[in-house]
Amino acid sequence: MIVAAGAWTPTLLPWMRDAVKCVGQPVYYFQPDNPELYLPDRFPPWAADIANTGWYGFPVQPDGTLKIANHGAGIPVDPKNDTAVPAETDELFVGFLEKTFPQLTGTRIKSRRLCFYCDSFDGDFWIDWVPDFEGLLVATGGSGHGFKFAPMMGSLIADRFEGKANEWESRFRWRGIGEGRAEAARKK
Ligand SMILES: Cc1cc2nc3c(=O)[nH]c(=O)nc-3n(C[C@H](O)[C@H](O)[C@H](O)COP(=O)(O)OP(=O)(O)OC[C@H]3O[C@@H](n4cnc5c(N)ncnc54)[C@H](O)[C@@H]3O)c2cc1C
Repeated sequence: MIVAAGAWTPTLLPWMRDAVKCVGQPVYYFQPDNPELYLPDRFPPWAADIANTGWYGFPVQPDGTLKIANHGAGIPVDPKNDTAVPAETDELFVGFLEKTFPQLTGTRIKSRRLCFYCDSFDGDFWIDWVPDFEGLLVATGGSGHGFKFAPMMGSLIADRFEGKANEWESRFRWRGIGEGRAEAARKK
């Protein structure tokens, strides 16, 4: 059996909580007064030094809202119960908006939500048989990057299931802190 439950993995397999955790990433929708100013030809999808700051956003949505999010450490949550964005996050988003896009100062927040990541402790996927649980393979640890790797994940997971070697198996295997990346790098 393969468990690929994303952010719900630590809930389903609680003994994995040292390895992977569910974190909530805040996503905000602002309601500008002049949405036509933020159409894609003037206001394309953007990232603001995302590797260092985590900020990214999109042109105006069909409902007239501007979606802005932050890819960062996130907030450790239980995906069954903790779905609300903490109130203090408003200040962070409003501060960024006003500093980065001064013409949007005072724009109303229409809605906000938490999106869930399953972060592994080292940011790598986790694709391996569960020790001491015969027949159970886990495929998780997207760490906010699972979507773009989706076209290759199926074959990597199938390889592990069928016992076929591939270039990434040691990096994504069951591991302790300090293993995985280091071992994969040594093998190159
Ligand atoms: C706001 C946001 C922005 C993102 N942006 C990007 C991006 O730009 N690029 C990128 O590469 N990645 C991005 N990601 C990350 C990407 O979405 C995830 O890494 C990816 O979806 C993880 O895939 P997964 O199959 O492991 O888990 P999921 O896609 O979460 O799938 C897990 C599935 O398991 C189901 N499930 C849970 N529990 C059970 C159960 N008990 N029984 C049956 N089914 C169950 C869930 O309903 C869900 O359908 C983003 C994520 C968020 C939240």
